[in-house]
Amino acid sequence: MFGSAPDRDALKKSTERITKVSQILKFRPQEGKAPWDHNKDTLVSYDYIVLGGGSAGSVVASRLAEDPAVSVLVLEAGYSDDIFASRAPSAYNIIFGSDADWNYETVPQTHAGNRTLMQPRGKILGGCSSINAMMYHRGPASDYDEWESLGNPGWSFNECLPYFKKSEGFNDPNLPSDHPHGPLTNRIRFPEFETFDPEAHGTEGPWQVTFHHLFQLSTRFIVASQAEGIPFNKDFNGESTLGVNRIQTFIQRDGVRSSLSRAFLRSEDVVPGGSKHGRGTVRVVFGADAKRILFQVKRGVKMATGIEFVDHKNVRRRVMATREVLLCGGAFGSPQVLLASGVGPSPQSSIPQFHTLAGVGANLQDHLGISAVFRARDRLETLNSQYNAFTSIKSLFSYVASGTGPLTCQLGEGVIFVRLEDIAPEWVAQEKANGTYQERASGPGSPHLEFIILPGYVRRHGTILASDFKSYFTVTALLLNPCSAGLFKIATQPTKNGNGVDVKGVVDPNYLAESFDARALVQGLKFIRRIARRLNEDPEVGGREVFPGETDVPDRDDKVLEKYIREYSETYYHPVGTCKMGPASDKMSVVDHRLNVHGIERLRVIDASVMPKLVAAHTCAPTVMIAERAADFIKEDWSTSSSSPSDYSTRGQTTEAKL
Ligand SMILES: Cc1cc2nc3c(=O)[nH]c(=O)nc-3n(C[C@H](O)[C@H](O)[C@H](O)COP(=O)(O)OP(=O)(O)OC[C@H]3O[C@@H](n4cnc5c(N)ncnc54)[C@H](O)[C@@H]3O)c2cc1C
Repeated sequence: MFGSAPDRDALKKSTERITKVSQILKFRPQEGKAPWDHNKDTLVSYDYIVLGGGSAGSVVASRLAEDPAVSVLVLEAGYSDDIFASRAPSAYNIIFGSDADWNYETVPQTHAGNRTLMQPRGKILGGCSSINAMMYHRGPASDYDEWESLGNPGWSFNECLPYFKKSEGFNDPNLPSDHPHGPLTNRIRFPEFETFDPEAHGTEGPWQVTFHHLFQLSTRFIVASQAEGIPFNKDFNGESTLGVNRIQTFIQRDGVRSSLSRAFLRSEDVVPGGSKHGRGTVRVVFGADAKRILFQVKRGVKMATGIEFVDHKNVRRRVMATREVLLCGGAFGSPQVLLASGVGPSPQSSIPQFHTLAGVGANLQDHLGISAVFRARDRLETLNSQYNAFTSIKSLFSYVASGTGPLTCQLGEGVIFVRLEDIAPEWVAQEKANGTYQERASGPGSPHLEFIILPGYVRRHGTILASDFKSYFTVTALLLNPCSAGLFKIATQPTKNGNGVDVKGVVDPNYLAESFDARALVQGLKFIRRIARRLNEDPEVGGREVFPGETDVPDRDDKVLEKYIREYSETYYHPVGTCKMGPASDKMSVVDHRLNVHGIERLRVIDASVMPKLVAAHTCAPTVMIAERAADFIKEDWSTSSSSPSDYSTRGQTTEAKL
């Protein structure tokens, strides 16, 4: 990919070229997915409008359309996910900073070196599931039991488990490779790291979960962690989530990302046995940027009736829903649209207040991580060593020909989930003795920290590259139960033509405001170095720290380690909680336990924003579980509703209302 030295722009350009070629080679029109077509789309009326064709939106739309009588309109601001950087698992960070990323950044973070931090979010069909690291992880059972204990009946882990399984199409590595649920053909197997608990998995869902590519580095990491006292975990999604192993991934058997859009919105060619026949309609409108929710008040009852959006030609349009408006815009997108529609804590300048809900945008929680980068032995294969012209052509060939090779690596292959007392017992005892220890985990089975080994030089989301093609690896520590929480809000200003209001999202996660978070990450950084020392003893791996370096940031000085954390930590992409679920008595909750917005009828929020507390997990599988549950809530509510949809005032209207 590169001529002489690694260069991110060159990498981006090559990927764009590959994307164009692969689009031409693979182009198939996708029925029902296209920008707004004024002549056709205004003639149709839709039962449900789904705002955002992302992870949750794809699931909800598809499940609702299982009823042949139902029609669903999905408004997605982005475009097709059929691009190389999204399909090939190792290429996703090329999307950061592109048009398929919302390119949010935080406001300067007072407690994190006053920096503005990148916050990538997928602006593309499939949303973040089309640009994420494909790690399939549900987290500890006690986290969901805690959700229920916060006033959300029905959300205990035992009640959520069937919904986790429902979406999942787990591929058993022990089956023959020609079996529809077998392992990937031609993939190099590592049976000792492909253990799993069959009881914990679903095999009939459309979302493909597999054991995929594994660098030798990742296997050595698992061995080194065990030598450091971390127990081997048979299945992170099984009985316990603590320990070390490879992570399960949502990648199809052919090596293509199993985004939620690919799994749920292309079911006719992906889902085994899936068929579009006998299903209702799902119309996906690309390039539709939703601006606000349309409401009416009837006999004192507030209700949502439709959405106002700007189409791909920048024309403002309105669409009406005969049943419900479903917000699936993600942890930033959903509160942004609510706030822009006058639903939130206090009136925004130039936006009439429609309904006061104090919690919209509050309770923003995220996983912050800190990394160290190591130089490995030359003979160790990593992603860095793949970047030169010859090996990248070889990798591309094995990817296109057989769906194997380094392009199928999703970056974070080997992981550890631990509790602080297991890696730093003396520090925990000291904090407890000082009265400064803060326990945020939901129970003794819930991890405090996660460690991920990345087979390459990864700094600032991959935007800073190594200066050569040598072998490197990076180890990251993530704080899974942060004490610090922040806020999402909007800034408004009149549009240039003076006819409307421009709304911009303002992200303030307030990282490291609680100093306990920084101190816990210091223990994480020390443990990274312990694992790296083990790897350095491994004749196949090696591991000399090149960033930040023990000379500049010595292990013995907690103050210096903490400073490094404040100046170099980055998001690990899991913002949640900005429309949290809770009872009406909790004034900071935005939706009830069936995900209805408090005080407004026919409006639900269904995405990562409803999590009342951040799970000690990767957030995609939990979000999909939420969407599966929501689809059932909606189906139940409409099947038991005394009024038929035709009773509603909006029924029979054409899709576009008068502006
Ligand atoms: C780089 C990255 C890596 C990650 N890695 C992992 C991982 O390995 N494993 C894991 O479990 N989780 C991972 N996550 C997190 C996980 O992907 C998200 O938590 C999850 O996908 C969120 O789903 P969602 O439905 O809430 O939002 P999204 O999937 O982001 O969907 C929101 C959708 O709404 C659309 N939208 C927003 N606003 C509007 C608007 N106004 N009008 C129209 N459309 C709109 C967006 O374009 C998007 O398609 C990662 C996330 C990122 C960004």
